[in-house]
Amino acid sequence: MSIQENIEAIRARMAQAARAAGRDGGEILLVGASKMNDAAACRAAVAAGIDALGENRVQELLEKYGQGAYEGVPLHFIGHLQRNKVRQIIGKVDLIHSVSSLELLTEIDRQAEKHGLTQPVLLEVNIGREESKSGFLPEELFDAARAARDFSHVSVQGIMAIPPVEQEKHGNLPYFQEVARLYIDISHQLYHNGFKYLSMGMSDDFEDAIAAGANMVRVGSAIFGARNYQK
Ligand SMILES: *Cc1c(COP(=O)(O)O)cnc(C)c1O
Repeated sequence: MSIQENIEAIRARMAQAARAAGRDGGEILLVGASKMNDAAACRAAVAAGIDALGENRVQELLEKYGQGAYEGVPLHFIGHLQRNKVRQIIGKVDLIHSVSSLELLTEIDRQAEKHGLTQPVLLEVNIGREESKSGFLPEELFDAARAARDFSHVSVQGIMAIPPVEQEKHGNLPYFQEVARLYIDISHQLYHNGFKYLSMGMSDDFEDAIAAGANMVRVGSAIFGARNYQK
């Protein structure tokens, strides 16, 4: 299967999941998680109509950016972001999904101000309370979202979550539902219902994420094929 065929198949499954949930599939954005795939693969995804591409590592993003990998679509940063690398991506990325601390947000705000722009971001919630993952704990999220309103060069546009690896089919549905409740409540209570993006769902579980209300899914291996970690 080509990247184009994979994207078409995923779009069809997204539309089906949206219909099943009584939603309009046209409102759900497909972000290609392109880590470990080269610039040519990224361009193939762009040609096939992907809505955005998302990268996890700053170094890899900069290399592929220089090769024109992302031309024609918004570029997102979806991985763990170190504070000392923020300045390398501000001005290049359209959305940062993975804001996991107020210290990181402070640095994004500072660098965005230097560039004379307002950086759209999402707050990441560690919905499974996993040691190995970053993100705000669910009970910290309200306070973080409240504090984030005071930064003048970031625009908080929603929530992102990566639930634990599924132990069984549909195992993440309760997590997705919990994230969706937080998204709705925080948007309503703190952001005048202004949130735009609920980013959750990957290759193995994007249909459940859509059932719970996701409007942005991040899909990697189902588009680009299995990643080769040996290379
Ligand atoms: C790699 C990655 C994805 C996509 O994972 P797949 O299982 O390959 O679809 C989504 N989100 C983040 C943050 C990722 O790092």
